[in-house]
Amino acid sequence: MNCTHCNNEMVKGCNVNVEGVIYGIKISKKRKGLFNKVSAKPKAAVCSNCGYVAFYIDDFKQFRE
Ligand SMILES: [Zn+2]
Repeated sequence: MNCTHCNNEMVKGCNVNVEGVIYGIKISKKRKGLFNKVSAKPKAAVCSNCGYVAFYIDDFKQFRE
């Protein structure tokens, strides 16, 4: 995973927390069909060169329609 701004290799696996809240944030999406809701906990990647932060999830395929 490279930075979209400077193409530097990003540091993955950073935890995402809302300040003051123990629980992290969650990405979810409503879907049609049997499993009609998918959700995932996002992780963050940080560029150590320019400070850009990107969110990503490991289990992204379940968000495909
Ligand atoms: Zn960068």
